[in-house]
Amino acid sequence: KKKIAVMTSGGDSPGMNSAVRAVVRAGIYYGCDVYAVYEGYEGLLKGGDLLKKMEWQDVRGWLSEGGTLIGTARCMEFRERWGRKQAAGNLIREGIDALVVCGGDGSLTGADLFRSEWPSLVKELVEDGTFTEEQVEPYKNLTIVGLVGSIDNDMSGTDSTIGAYSALERICEMVDYIDATAKSHSRAFVVEVMGRHCGWLALMAGIATAADYIFIPERAAPSGEWQKELQRVCQAHREKGRRNNTVIVAEGALDDKLNPITSEQVKDALIELGLDTKITTLGHVQRGGTAVAHDRWLATLQGVDAVKAVLEMTPDTPSPLIGILENKIIRMPLMESVKLTKSVADAIEHKDFDKAISLRDSEFIELYENFIST
Ligand code: ADP
Repeated sequence: KKKIAVMTSGGDSPGMNSAVRAVVRAGIYYGCDVYAVYEGYEGLLKGGDLLKKMEWQDVRGWLSEGGTLIGTARCMEFRERWGRKQAAGNLIREGIDALVVCGGDGSLTGADLFRSEWPSLVKELVEDGTFTEEQVEPYKNLTIVGLVGSIDNDMSGTDSTIGAYSALERICEMVDYIDATAKSHSRAFVVEVMGRHCGWLALMAGIATAADYIFIPERAAPSGEWQKELQRVCQAHREKGRRNNTVIVAEGALDDKLNPITSEQVKDALIELGLDTKITTLGHVQRGGTAVAHDRWLATLQGVDAVKAVLEMTPDTPSPLIGILENKIIRMPLMESVKLTKSVADAIEHKDFDKAISLRDSEFIELYENFIST
């Protein structure tokens, strides 16, 4: 009987519980035993109570719950080979040789590394007397399947990550609240949103709330000049009769010399224009709350496909990532996607902003170009 473990790792995102529920139930439906690994990679290292066999009813009500009910953690030890060896020992002890990981690019990179090292880790566990040859015989290979849980929508090769639309919804709701009071007092608001290397949340929220201006990392604003441009746009909108201004700043926003553009700086530029300006940093409310419908169905369909991928994979199949492209659930080699994701951050670091934008999905680029030119 195939034993599959499912875990969440890295930053939490709404919809992770829907994914765990789908893996547990699809696994049981296909005749597997399914385990939940609690507390991310820490659970793999510690084993014991943190590896729990899940039954159908254990995930009842998990579909819409925010956060991750099986916990997540940053785990430094898993970055070390000895830590991964300990994790391998715990999995073999439970008879588990397939792992579905829902996390960001860091978690998925760790998972792929774990898989590639697995045969040598098992060999060492036999050499040091932890297991006998017979005991490890059924566990020659580890199967890894990745699901992307991230509110930033920062993974290349997939249109949306589990949690991104929930965070976007939350931001839009908050900006709507802010707009009401801003219009009453004719104020300007600088709204800071999450997104360290990825401006998707800022861009999409900007379009969905008719913000005056956005700052994102992929299109760095011209250093020393962006203030004038921002003032010109906000002024023009006021002249057309707007009673408020909204500027959305991604937390990773940069100028073209790679200096951070902070909410304070944006506020100062608006005050210089004579606008009564306030800053709202949305912070962790963006992560919280129930998952929106999009994230529920995305995580459910992807969780089911993750189980199918586990059952169909051979030792030679590169670890797949379950994504979505043009409304179709797809599989692509996990490391290809991670590599593409890293190249966006590299392009930004090398001030090649045209490349950074071109590496994002085409839909994103078009939206960006249309939005910024207003
Ligand atoms: P995310 O998955 O959201 O990108 P992190 O980068 O913090 O978040 O990764 C989450 C966890 O995954 C880390 O705490 C660590 O245990 C593991 N991890 C990340 N990168 C690696 C790596 N290169 N090798 C091994 N484990 C890693």
